[in-house]
Amino acid sequence: MPNMKGLSQNKGRHTGLPLQTVQNATPSGRHLLRQPPFPPQPHSAYIWVDTHAHLFDYTDNDLGALIDEAIAAGVATIVNTAVSIDTARTVLSQCKKFPNVLKPAVGISPFDSVDVKNGWDDELKTLVNNNNSQPNEPPIIAIGEIGLDNTNPIYPSLDIQLPIFKKQLEIANDANLPVIIHSRGMEKQTAEICSGLNVTKAIFHCFTGDKESLDYIINCGYYISIPGIVTYKNSHLRDLIRHIPINRLLIETDAPYLSPAPHRGKPNKPPFLIHTAKYIAELLDIDEAKLAKALLENVIRVFDS
Ligand SMILES: [Zn+2]
Repeated sequence: MPNMKGLSQNKGRHTGLPLQTVQNATPSGRHLLRQPPFPPQPHSAYIWVDTHAHLFDYTDNDLGALIDEAIAAGVATIVNTAVSIDTARTVLSQCKKFPNVLKPAVGISPFDSVDVKNGWDDELKTLVNNNNSQPNEPPIIAIGEIGLDNTNPIYPSLDIQLPIFKKQLEIANDANLPVIIHSRGMEKQTAEICSGLNVTKAIFHCFTGDKESLDYIINCGYYISIPGIVTYKNSHLRDLIRHIPINRLLIETDAPYLSPAPHRGKPNKPPFLIHTAKYIAELLDIDEAKLAKALLENVIRVFDS
């Protein structure tokens, strides 16, 4: 995720479709994706899950329209991902309004780690404890996005990022939640830190690293989430993705960034996930329905077991 500041808002169009997807989320935060099974959606034979999007800049009206559009495209569930305490509160209130489709992930991103106030960790823990113990609140399904980035000079120094990242790994472990990791330029070291702190479930979101770090992450038992970048001409992900075991693969938009072809350059949004999904199915020479099923099993395994 690049700099979050100065984002322009995405606008969705209202399709008027009913919001019927996953229901009966349990207050414990577990099994929230499994029951009942994902039903087929009106305009798509397959069900896709966008495992990483940032929707906190949407107004409620625009969000409703966006969700209708996503469902119409076959994107049944979206992990709405915070980057700070403030955006976590917005994400949670959005997910409460659209609990069947939006699932919250909360955390402090490496970019935002420079802005944390004293007591941020207690605030984060309180959000997790409250949401995952009260039946009327949407259960938080992951701590994220969190991570380490040494590739961009606008990011705070690693001295600032590292303790905040490690603390959030502990919070995730204590809450028995998976982590959604942003790592650039130090993917292998980031996985080493996770593994050293006994993190068992981690998703390396928007993975852009090399083969060596990919292998290391896979050996740790973690997951790789592939963004729309894979559809770009000459993207190294087109080769790399062949080295990801199918049971460790996830896909995402990272909306509003990194729109897949043929929308490259426009603000990204969850309905565009289908372009990435179809592209990967073709690239791996796998039936779309089979890919959708495999990815859904991965989603359930990492977030819901
Ligand atoms: Zn992101």
